[in-house]
Amino acid sequence: MNEYNYIKNQDEEIYDTLVGEEEREKKGIELIPSENYVSMATREAMGSVFTNKYSEGYPGRRYYGGQEFTDAMERIAIDRAKQLFKAEYANVQPLGGAAANVAMYFALMEPGDTVLGMDLSHGGHLTHGHPTTAINKVFNFVRYKMKDVDTGEIDYDHLREMAIEHKPKIILAGFSAYSRELDYTKFKEIADEVGAYTVADMAHITGLIASGVLKNPFDYGFDVMTMTTHKSLRGPRGGMIVVRESAEIAKKINKAVFPGMQGGPHMHQIAAKAVAFKEALDPSFKAYAQQIVKNAKAMEVVFKAENVRLMCGGTDNHLLLADVHSSLNITGQEAEDVLEEVGITLNKNMIADEPRTAMDPSGIRFGTPAMTTRGMKEEQATRLAEIMIEIMRNKDDADKKAELQKEVQEMCEAFPVPEKFV
Ligand SMILES: *Cc1c(COP(=O)(O)O)cnc(C)c1O
Repeated sequence: MNEYNYIKNQDEEIYDTLVGEEEREKKGIELIPSENYVSMATREAMGSVFTNKYSEGYPGRRYYGGQEFTDAMERIAIDRAKQLFKAEYANVQPLGGAAANVAMYFALMEPGDTVLGMDLSHGGHLTHGHPTTAINKVFNFVRYKMKDVDTGEIDYDHLREMAIEHKPKIILAGFSAYSRELDYTKFKEIADEVGAYTVADMAHITGLIASGVLKNPFDYGFDVMTMTTHKSLRGPRGGMIVVRESAEIAKKINKAVFPGMQGGPHMHQIAAKAVAFKEALDPSFKAYAQQIVKNAKAMEVVFKAENVRLMCGGTDNHLLLADVHSSLNITGQEAEDVLEEVGITLNKNMIADEPRTAMDPSGIRFGTPAMTTRGMKEEQATRLAEIMIEIMRNKDDADKKAELQKEVQEMCEAFPVPEKFV
């Protein structure tokens, strides 16, 4: 554990929040599918001297002097990123997943051009053109959907019709609330037919792709992948863009990231990415990624046995989306609240074609990357799913809540957050 000695001595207010967060993260079961615990090595890099340095530009081509070590470090980060994703080019500078997507849009399109992406209520992300985002004012976003929300199959015929009608510059595969594999070959065929770039925003499943547990879109000819480094990849909060093979696209991406939209890269964050990439290249990471999926499957089995409706009918990845309103007569918000009371953190979420509202939706979304980092396996995943359903069925039963909260506490104590992975 970090002692925070300097902060403790000079800034009690912030020290208290840090200690509070350390405790919170240890004492609850984290089921938010986009969250994870990083190693102490990654945290050391995040807290390192690299935060002092301005390094605008790229290794060997900077706008400031003194780049001996930043150049060496960023080159290592790039090499490791390329290895992880079988990419010819990598840009490790995007500050987050949203920044990576904005840079990618500006690299590959002119204002007014069209993106064909996943419908937002069917699992697409805010950064895929939600009406409230800035990029929605610059580019035109059109949507494809699932054909059947209870199997998760994408409507590829509709996707093709939309592509022919709207002539998108980019066909975007990717999601933050979808639990099935995609048929990348179909995306690529349709994109080739209309002359569009293929981009996969793999933010959530980055770790599952890097480890080979899920398909790599590059094996199916995709041009570009955007991603986050802090979700299943288990690195620091940040973004990244990798390019399969085109030097021309890579050049456009680099220009769009800097100077297109960012200033000085966050070198401490890039160092932390490099540390996490080395962890992800270690054989132990594959076992971790496999366990993430096994744990999600174990939870699926319980939810199905209890007749809770799951979007896509189940999961192939790390997350599940349950329609708790129709199955358990509890809203997504109520479920989030009551589960938090017993020490389980997850988020309310819209289900496909949500009949309620975005602020008060029917579903919950939960996933296994963080609990798997604690070393939990199918046995614990199964029990957690049972606890979740029991709590949602008995949301007003104080005794039941106290009993299950105690059990959750004991599980947390039995599976402490690890400090290192390799
Ligand atoms: C999380 C996510 C992002 C955004 O990442 P931030 O780092 O929060 O900006 C973008 N796309 C998808 C699909 C995501 O899941």
